[in-house]
Amino acid sequence: MVTELEIETALAAVRSASQLCSGAQGRLAAGDTLTKGDESPVTVADFAAQAVVCAVLTDDLGPIDMVGEEDSSDLSDDDRAALRAGVTALVRSQRGDEVSESAVLDWISVGSADGTTDRYWTLDPIDGTKGFLRGDQYAIALALIERGEIQLGVLGCPNLPNPDGTTGAVFLATPGSCVAYYGSSTRALPVRVAAPATVAEARFCESVESGHSNQDDSAQIAALLGISAEPYRIDSQCKYAAVARGDASIYLRLPTRADYREKIWDHAAGKFVVEQAGGQVTDVTGAPLDFSHGSKLEQNRGIVATDGRFHDEVIAAVTTVLDS
Ligand code: AMP
Ligand code: MG
Repeated sequence: MVTELEIETALAAVRSASQLCSGAQGRLAAGDTLTKGDESPVTVADFAAQAVVCAVLTDDLGPIDMVGEEDSSDLSDDDRAALRAGVTALVRSQRGDEVSESAVLDWISVGSADGTTDRYWTLDPIDGTKGFLRGDQYAIALALIERGEIQLGVLGCPNLPNPDGTTGAVFLATPGSCVAYYGSSTRALPVRVAAPATVAEARFCESVESGHSNQDDSAQIAALLGISAEPYRIDSQCKYAAVARGDASIYLRLPTRADYREKIWDHAAGKFVVEQAGGQVTDVTGAPLDFSHGSKLEQNRGIVATDGRFHDEVIAAVTTVLDS
């Protein structure tokens, strides 16, 4: 169950973080980025966006369990003072000049839950940081999970071009509904998956980064399905948004290594957006995504999202190629 207050607060939180990120994109200095232990990049904007989302949620909802991607301990060493100052400056752009550095670190720490309680939020403050740094697409992804079932998904896509000529969209999925807000509009537009007549007419999307999804396998799967359109390569959970609103009909995320487990914050919001827009999301074997194993999808491999109609056909082609 999700309350109206939670929906409104989550939307406000993602909007504030989206504003912060679009203000920061393209304006970061060399020292504003560091490489985490897993070799992935993180910027002052990732930390600041997590702080802002947690600040808005806890202000209005009180204490929450949150599984956030970022860890405030990455900012705690003495040699990270400049980074902490950069994060604080960005948070102040949304929360006011009186915000202290310790308040910012406390907000980031709200995201340290492990996803083992009955009800928790999960946040990727900047999904697709590599896209963010390239000046391309990225997303702020927030979801609420209760006993393994997603109840709410909000995707902020600040750099996404819209069919009406505006830039930036927020997608909101609640049980039974998916809507989008384009540009600065507060008008909720219904979001529905596309319905190509045959799977061969479908367009598929995948990661820009070949290290995140096997692009050779996806090319073989597309050939097997008779798809001739070029893949739509786009960073972050904007891929889920693309399937939800019909810019593409298939999202393939194919394992590049056997031991990689997908993170819940990389998929919860996007999956719910696609499902509430009429689509279907499973792993590469066709199994449902299982959000009851903490911060990772321990029981799943890869991701296949579709408009629903051709899901079984796509899974059959994926199985043929991955088993070959
Ligand atoms: P994308 O923008 O779709 O390429 O996905 C970005 C996300 O890929 C990041 O948030 C990482 O958590 C995730 N990621 C990093 N390494 C891998 C990998 N080997 N396989 C799948 N996803 C990965
Ligand atoms: Mg991510």
